[in-house]
Amino acid sequence: MFPQAPLNLLQLDWLTTAGIEVAILRLDQIDPLISGNKWFKLVEHLKAADHAGADGIISLGGAHSNHLHALAAAGKRLGFKTVGLLRGHPQETPTVKDLQAFGMQLHWLGYGGYRARHEPGFWLPWQAQYPTLHAVPEGGGGLPGALGCATLKVQVDAQLSDLGWSDYHGWWLACGTGTTLAGLALVEAGERPVYGALAVPDDHGVAPHVEAIVREAGLATADYQLLDASRGGFAKVDAQLLGFIEQTEQLSGVPLEPLYTGKALLALKQQVEAGRFASGTRLIFVHTGGLQGRRGFAVTP
Ligand SMILES: *Cc1c(COP(=O)(O)O)cnc(C)c1O
Repeated sequence: MFPQAPLNLLQLDWLTTAGIEVAILRLDQIDPLISGNKWFKLVEHLKAADHAGADGIISLGGAHSNHLHALAAAGKRLGFKTVGLLRGHPQETPTVKDLQAFGMQLHWLGYGGYRARHEPGFWLPWQAQYPTLHAVPEGGGGLPGALGCATLKVQVDAQLSDLGWSDYHGWWLACGTGTTLAGLALVEAGERPVYGALAVPDDHGVAPHVEAIVREAGLATADYQLLDASRGGFAKVDAQLLGFIEQTEQLSGVPLEPLYTGKALLALKQQVEAGRFASGTRLIFVHTGGLQGRRGFAVTP
């Protein structure tokens, strides 16, 4: 059920200079079709659907959604039905073309219709139309989504000795809803800190969402820290970010996209250069994927 993500040392001058080692967990490389943290966030939802006797999944997202992309790819790969409720009006993005090619049934809700997704009764007509499908919230969040991400630690621990590492001191990753971070904080149970580089500005409710997951899991506290890496807002890009992404790809061979992974690694560089971590610190950087989405933006170098 869980494809293995490779763990590689990241060799970049700004890390060497500071005496800091970073290993990158490549969730973008788990499968030719299914990519990124969205797959791990889906796994418990798929189990729940199976348990409920559903023959597929219905969920929602935008026209560049990594979540719908992973869901549609999983449906194609594993042979279950998928329905996607999309924000806005019909458009042909590379993501949307993939969703159709993977066999996902699409419904465009408009903007107002999509905004109604948190209202009571939103799901009723969809449940009536698709009674055999299991509904998954936007982005695959909540405790089930977080539990699927706990596996990432198992994958890291299994590959540590290949790097010559006996241990590491923390995690660094991009955050949107904080679900992936919450999964890591749960499985660490306070042993190592999890640093979340926010791709959305602080006010988007990430901390309360993480706290709710931690409480629902029955954990008293979790060791995590959030910092704003959004550079002015979700999906806002600038020349420094794009230059950094291009340079990093040339130097390390690691492809990044500008919404999550590029911002998260640039924020790490800034923190390392500001002296946040002592020399000798070893960190795991989670490459959360998302590369399919960058085709939709004319901003990649
Ligand atoms: C969705 C996404 C994230 C954010 O994950 P959360 O669990 O919502 O915090 C990070 N990186 C990429 C590439 C994503 O697609």
